[in-house]
Amino acid sequence: MTQTLLKHGRHLVGSELVPCDVLIEDGKIKAIGADLNAAEDATVIDLNNNLITPGLIDIHVHLREPGYTNKETIVTGSRAAAHGGFTTIAAMANLKPTCDTPERFKKQVERNEKDGAIKIIQYSPVTKDRAGKEPVDVAAQYAAGARLFSDDGAGIQDAGVVYRAMQQLAAHDLVMCDHAQDNQLANGGVINDGPVAQKLGLPGMPKISETAQIARNIVIAQATGAHYHVCHVSTKESIELVRHAKQLGINVTCEVTPHHLLLADADIPGDDAEFKMNPPLRSRQDQEACLAGLLDGTIDCIATDHAPHTDAEKHQGFLASPNGIVGSETAFALLYTRYVKNGIFTLGQLINWLTGNVKKVFKLDNVGLLKVGDPADIAVFDIDHQDTVKADQFFSKGHNTPFIGDQVYGMTDKTFVDGKLVYDREEEK
Ligand SMILES: [Zn+2]
Repeated sequence: MTQTLLKHGRHLVGSELVPCDVLIEDGKIKAIGADLNAAEDATVIDLNNNLITPGLIDIHVHLREPGYTNKETIVTGSRAAAHGGFTTIAAMANLKPTCDTPERFKKQVERNEKDGAIKIIQYSPVTKDRAGKEPVDVAAQYAAGARLFSDDGAGIQDAGVVYRAMQQLAAHDLVMCDHAQDNQLANGGVINDGPVAQKLGLPGMPKISETAQIARNIVIAQATGAHYHVCHVSTKESIELVRHAKQLGINVTCEVTPHHLLLADADIPGDDAEFKMNPPLRSRQDQEACLAGLLDGTIDCIATDHAPHTDAEKHQGFLASPNGIVGSETAFALLYTRYVKNGIFTLGQLINWLTGNVKKVFKLDNVGLLKVGDPADIAVFDIDHQDTVKADQFFSKGHNTPFIGDQVYGMTDKTFVDGKLVYDREEEK
């Protein structure tokens, strides 16, 4: 029996922050309360009055290994997640090669387990080679352990392929997570279509490239009974489609990214690819709709879409640079600072969108929610002191984010997975 006692933390009870200790035994939470005692040989860690939350869960990250290890590896990406307070992440399948067979899938899971600092759930692609032409053998992937399916990075253009894939997924009660994008309507855009695109002289990506595919796939989900999850919704109209589908009883859920909650295209200062992502930053009205959609429950959870690239790739301007920004290390602090500290949403809501709701939507086993008997997946945040987002403190290989230099509260102090300390600010890199 090994015990760890976390002393002098605070956690949320209702809407109050109350003093709390956590006793961990053999990787599980044994007790939560004030002034707990532990065995004589227990490790005791003082939390200095910091905030204790369940370990965060990120259902949408890109780890880049195999195929793109110059951008990120399982080691660096999972340590970046731990640095952000995440204890479970789900890794997308846009790898080279992708894990579209049971053999490749199992190998990928082995890699994740060997190198991951935290719990990693591996996505299977929906289609072979992520080419959008033919669904993977869902039953075989399921037997190999796959529970989440996505071709993220690309939309599946052929409706017949989506239909056949959703039929198979529905038969196994599995979710299809969709990067909704109609390439015919995307128009080669690199930024949201609108006045900002015109001002910068860049090709715009119209909103209908997202909404048209969401509408189509909602209809297919209704016909097949599959659970359809929309990744990174970015437009007011997308959210309205999901809201309407939910009202009709169709099995649809969706996520939003921190950057679509925090920024709009009007915030783009010029031809700076740190602001280039897909879907692009939309209008202020869309940003406000993302916030409203979260608050009214249409949007189920927040996911970072952590997408690391090299500095050289991202210093090429909007036209040439790849899409995406890193997000693991800044998500909680940015959202806490902007929205919780300003009273737009509560700490409880933020924690729920980053933990409990994610677990519920994706039926995740083996993930703790800070309850006695749960795995000791715990994040500790410093919400009382202001800090600066600094690229040289990132564990990710990617530094591509428009938030460098931001002043934030809520930096991570410690992260535990199954009771094991996987990030500690005292051992800053
Ligand atoms: Zn995507």
